[in-house]
Order: sequence, then structure tokens, then C-alpha cells
Amino acid sequence: MINQQLIARGIKDEKVLEAFRRVPRHKFVRPEDKDSSYDDGPLPIGQGQTISQPYIVALMTEALEIEGNDKVLEIGTGSGYQAAILAELAREVYSIERVSQLGEITQNKLKDMGYTNIFIKIGDGTKGWGENAPYNAIIITAASPKVPSSLWKQLAMGGRMIIPVGDLTSQNLLLLKKTDKGRVKYNLGGCRFVPLLGENGWRD
Ligand code: SAM
Repeated sequence: MINQQLIARGIKDEKVLEAFRRVPRHKFVRPEDKDSSYDDGPLPIGQGQTISQPYIVALMTEALEIEGNDKVLEIGTGSGYQAAILAELAREVYSIERVSQLGEITQNKLKDMGYTNIFIKIGDGTKGWGENAPYNAIIITAASPKVPSSLWKQLAMGGRMIIPVGDLTSQNLLLLKKTDKGRVKYNLGGCRFVPLLGENGWRD
């Protein structure tokens, strides 16, 4: 996976690659999908949700340029795989999942795996997690119709946000940097995510 899917496609950051070496992806998929854990694509995780393709997880992680002292907010905990990768790089990872059945199982799994720097909350992530703001990096792992202003406000000055923005069938992966001169935007290309459902995302 690391050589053929990540390095061959341009993932270069050695700290990111090392995080992928350390986190066992097969522990984040359903038992019946274990043999496909390292395949080049997303997999179902139940409740109509997915664990993202390894390359997309790596691309988003690398783009965030996480430093060891950073505090990161993730919207869309899902299987917890992305949170675990982030937790290898950052000081603290706060992650919000809307579907309680997923969030609770993932919380227990990450605890059993020994992660002490991941904090999970069940709720509508489009509102963010104001108590712990500001964050050095914010990652949204579901497709949004726009950049939720509630999340933008919780990003620290100098912070980075990555978010798929578009309609329900296709999106662009946007990297946004908060600078003293305003918002700097980069388009990392097309992608397809499950919808971000909530007050500041797609309405149910
Ligand atoms: N990051 C996950 C992983 O590593 O497995 C994959 C996330 S999956 C592509 C998107 C997740 O976003 C789903 O679990 C979905 O329930 C969740 N989601 C959708 N809308 C949400 C919201 N408003 N707040 C929190 N989570 C949300």
C-alpha cells in the first residue's frame, strides 16, 4: 500500500509515511473485509458510511502539514483510521461523529489500541467543537456544499483546513489556509465523499 499507492502517487512527507507504517489499517475495517484492508479504494464500515481510500487519507494528511504540538479537529470519525493517523503526528485530535453507533464503537477501539490523545464526541460536526478551539488544523472527511463558517471561525491564525466541497455526486478537495491577509485557497482535485449532514452541511 505504502509503496504502490502512496509513494508512487507523490506522497513524500516521511512523517506521514511513517504514520501509515505504524497504524494497522486492517483493525479499522469490518471482519469480512480484512483481506481487502490494504486495497486501493474505500470500504464500507456500516451505517451507509465508508473508510476512505488510503491515498486520499494520505493526501489530506500531508496537505495539513501537521506539527508535533498541533491540535487537530476532524469532522467524520467513521472507522477512526484517519484519526489514528493524525494522532501519530499531532498532540491532540478531537473528532466528531454524527452516527452514534459508529462513534461509540470507534471510541472503544481506539482506547483498546492505546490512543490517549484522541477525543471523540457524538454530534453534529458542522458546528465544530468550540470548547477546545482554536485548532491548528481542521479536516472534514465528508462532502460539504460550502465551507461552514462555524468551522472556519474555530481555525487558528496560520491554521490549515481541508474539505471536500461540491454537490452530492462530486466535489473538489480544497485546502484553505488562514493568514493575516485572509483565506488562501488551493484546489487539490476532484474527489467523492459521503455527505456531511447537519445544520451547516446538507440538511437531512
Ligand atoms: N474519517 C473516517 C475514517 O477514517 O474512517 C471516514 C469518514 S466517512 C468518509 C464520513 C463520516 O462523516 C461518516 O462516518 C459520517 O457519519 C460522518 N458525518 C457526516 N456528517 C457528519 C456531521 N455533521 N458531523 C459528524 N460526522 C458526520
